[in-house]
Order: sequence, then structure tokens, then C-alpha cells
Amino acid sequence: MVDIDKCQMTRYPAEVLAQRAKPVEKIDDNIRQFVDKMFDLMIKYKGVGFAAPQAGVSLRLFIISLDGSREHLKVFVNPTVTPSGEFDTNEEGCLSVPGIYTKIRRYKQCAVTATDLDGNEFKDQGEGLYARALQHEYDHIEGMTILNRMSQTARIAHRKQLKKLQERGK
Ligand SMILES: [Zn+2]
Repeated sequence: MVDIDKCQMTRYPAEVLAQRAKPVEKIDDNIRQFVDKMFDLMIKYKGVGFAAPQAGVSLRLFIISLDGSREHLKVFVNPTVTPSGEFDTNEEGCLSVPGIYTKIRRYKQCAVTATDLDGNEFKDQGEGLYARALQHEYDHIEGMTILNRMSQTARIAHRKQLKKLQERGK
């Protein structure tokens, strides 16, 4: 059971962001309320995607709304993301790693299979920003962030900001 009141924006170097998240066992009102909370946090911090570990909860669940609207909100419970095609390198940031925007290499396309909030399985295909968001959010539930994906050169270039985040996390 997710304690919704305790959910808050979680930032590097919080341990939960480095853990492989556990499957959602039952889609119930608690999970639906948690998704509302995730959406609120995503909007508050102006993101286009948000994964459960970013709210401090180690569950395999993320949301995406590329224009930040509730109307276009997609919810992915226990997703499987399968990237394909060529690589594409683009600037990327993460609400859990504030102050760092860096080039990240992703696949241009991906397929996703997940369960929605009504408990129905669905499949979708993504490309462009949507494919990038799916891969970014999937990384979160696998215990990874852009820090695991950034180049060594970028890591050195951002060392001051990284240190600042590490100090703040103590
Ligand atoms: Zn992120």
C-alpha cells in the first residue's frame, strides 16, 4: 500500500532511484490515487513523464503526457519497453537530477506493452520524443537515471552540479 501523503519529489542520490522497482500486484484505488499524486508532481515540476521511484515508491509504474495535459496522460503499469531502430542523440533532463541537461543516446523507436488503470493490457509504438520518454521512464523503474547514460565527458563537465546534488542529499 502506497502512503500517498508521504510521496514527494525524490532526487539523486536517493537510494530508491537506484533500485530495480517491484511489480504492481494489484491495480486498486490506492494505485489510482498514487497516479493522481504522480501527475500532480509531474505538473508541479513541469515534466512530461514521471516514474513511481521519483515519488519515492519502488513500483514498476510510470506516466507520460508529452504536452502536460491530463487529457493526453498515459499510464503504464508493469511495462515492458523494447527499443528498436537507429540511435538518436538529444539533450535530456530529469526532474530527479535537477540542473543537468546533457546529450543522451537513445533508440529512435520503441514498442511498449503495459497494463492500464482499468487492468487491461495494451500495446503501443513510440517514436521521437515519445520513444525517448518511454526509454527514460523505463530506465527509472530499472534503477537508472540519465547519470547512468551520460558520457564520461559530460560527467566531468557537470561535476560541480553533481557534487552539489550529492552534498544536498546527505
Ligand atoms: Zn527522469
